[in-house]
Amino acid sequence: MASIFSRIVAGEIPSYKVAEDDKFFAFLDINPLAKGHTLVIPKREVDYFFDLTDEEIGAMQIFAKKVATAIKEAFPCVKVGQAVLGLEVPHAHIHLVPMQSEKDMLFTNPKLKLTAEEFAEIAQKINSSLPQ
Ligand code: AMP
Repeated sequence: MASIFSRIVAGEIPSYKVAEDDKFFAFLDINPLAKGHTLVIPKREVDYFFDLTDEEIGAMQIFAKKVATAIKEAFPCVKVGQAVLGLEVPHAHIHLVPMQSEKDMLFTNPKLKLTAEEFAEIAQKINSSLPQ
């Protein structure tokens, strides 16, 4: 059975899409550590990040760089932090989190509760900060 993230890519499960190309997809984390917390995934379903090919990791990082640059423009922060956990969803993903300080990367922090309108607005703001 397809992962929840593959079902998001297929449009079977809704998401707040930020960016997409032929190989990768970026959408808002539904339990964000900060406004702009985004997940970047490969469309090819692989559980463990380090099982992706060298080429996939390289291309995914370049795609994530574009998204991180747009996040920083849309949500000014000290830096955008990157983390790979993958303990919950078995489909490789990179977390991109706008940071004001190191503690913003603590995944044990309470998550923000946002409305559907707020999520949609955040995704739109990041999307419109991507290079055309
Ligand atoms: P982990 O696998 O530990 O990196 O965590 C998976 C992340 O995916 C968590 O931060 C969840 O909030 C997030 N997540 C799970 N399901 C969804 C979904 N349907 N839409 C957006 N984010 C999700």
